[in-house]
Amino acid sequence: MGDQPASTSHTPILAPLDWEYAPSRESADLVSIGDRYGVFVDGDFRPPLSKKWFETINPATEDVLAEAPLAGERDVDRAVQAAKKAAGPWAKLAPAERAKYLFRIARMVQERSRELAVLETLDGGKPIREARDVDVPLVAAHFFYHAGWADKLEYAFAGVDPKPLGVAGQVIPWNFPLLMLAWKVAPALATGNTVVLKPAETTPLTALHFAQITAEAGLPPGVLNVIPGAGDTGASLVGHPDVAKVAFTGSTEVGKLIQRRLAGSGKRLTLELGGKSAHIVFEDAPLDQAVEGVVNGIFFNQGHVCCAGSRLFIQESIQDVFVGKLRDRLQTLRVGDPMDKNTDVGAINSAAQLEKISELVDSGVEEGAEMFQPDCALPSRGFFFKPTLFTGVSQSHRISQEEIFGPVLSTMSFRTPDEAIEKANNTPYGLAAGVWTTKGSRILWMADRLRSGVVWANTYNKFDPTSPFGGYKESGFGREGGRHGLASYLDLSSVR
Ligand code: NAP
Ligand code: MG
Repeated sequence: MGDQPASTSHTPILAPLDWEYAPSRESADLVSIGDRYGVFVDGDFRPPLSKKWFETINPATEDVLAEAPLAGERDVDRAVQAAKKAAGPWAKLAPAERAKYLFRIARMVQERSRELAVLETLDGGKPIREARDVDVPLVAAHFFYHAGWADKLEYAFAGVDPKPLGVAGQVIPWNFPLLMLAWKVAPALATGNTVVLKPAETTPLTALHFAQITAEAGLPPGVLNVIPGAGDTGASLVGHPDVAKVAFTGSTEVGKLIQRRLAGSGKRLTLELGGKSAHIVFEDAPLDQAVEGVVNGIFFNQGHVCCAGSRLFIQESIQDVFVGKLRDRLQTLRVGDPMDKNTDVGAINSAAQLEKISELVDSGVEEGAEMFQPDCALPSRGFFFKPTLFTGVSQSHRISQEEIFGPVLSTMSFRTPDEAIEKANNTPYGLAAGVWTTKGSRILWMADRLRSGVVWANTYNKFDPTSPFGGYKESGFGREGGRHGLASYLDLSSVR
């Protein structure tokens, strides 16, 4: 966002591209999109056994981009069998050799970063600046980081003999299609598991191009399989008897279904679910920086972020000043064509998501909150929503309780740190929180009491592969990233 984009907290490892000299609107010609894709199973693209395909569109134009295969039950089974066959040799491969594949994949993602960024933006609607500067560099970073772990697992888990689990069935959402793939595929492969991955229905393309990269990297057939499809595809994957580990990122509703379904099955499960994260600004905070952090926290990726700072708590003494600054800043956000490098807020991912956002925003107005939206024109085609700020929100309003997953911020106030904690924790979710204050002791005091997997201090939406990410309560369980994330893919029960 503006001067402070969400970014990696480490030095970017992606060689900077020559954007200066590129035309100001990124060209869709940078990526060659097939008309019709197959499922990627056992090292190759194959027509789906279901003989069914579905269209994936560009949500910024509603144009059809390509046809993706709709994997059915037999496709799921074929992919799981391929992964099962590959699991033994992959697990037995010398860990340093496994690492070489991951390093190679990381390098190839860097080399093809422009193609992947453009494809991610076309298929999902996120601003090209974010796909280019955040998503794709982080994808490479995850593969580099996990490549480094592959031959050091015995040091990560001293005293035990870490063993892979077998076939991992992974189901991911549409908000960070390639990054969620990286969060799941990199640790699974580094720890010696094989994978069947189901991307989200509205964003299958980068996962398919990534599959092609792994084939070009020489990854043995069956180690990674990608089967696009619908909810039913995901359901048959997680329920398949030969899947030993299920990793799911998506809504709390579907996460609960999966948890119930898997109860007693002996499968290992991690769930990364929804959130309604609190962003807390104290009166002593550097206000202009806090405004940037809050804006980034909610409008990054159109608010399609599980850890979006969607509830803002402002200390009462600065409430009017802070809201005034926020309104001024919203007025300057550029909403529109995601392929324009100056765009701050791109397209809403789908018509269904746009409807969900609109319905919740209407409920905010009906329940008596005051809405502010900047005067900006929206494109006539595609799915767009104006950045929206609510004041006068009460904790019982739906807009302060339910995950909107869109560019909508609900603001409330507090007087004391205790009150801020009480209000921030008053949610079924527990994914992330942000605190803005110049007092170090207060940051620690707050971090101790906030019931959320991540607490950012004087920043927001910083991601790094070394740092475990995950939730409490209805935001799920298990961690992705860091040493904790490796543990989710290992059997640590045998003592060395
Ligand atoms: P979703 O509807 O739960 O879908 C997620 C994935 O699950 C999609 O691939 C979906 O396929 C598939 N799916 C649907 N029904 C299924 C079933 N019965 N069994 C197995 N898989 C099934 O969620 P979404 O709307 O795509 O994503 C948004 C949600 O993800 C938000 O709630 C957000 O907070 C959460 N999220 C969490 C994190 C985190 O790390 N905690 C990160 C990103 C997003 P289809 O696409 O075909 O429906
Ligand atoms: Mg799409």
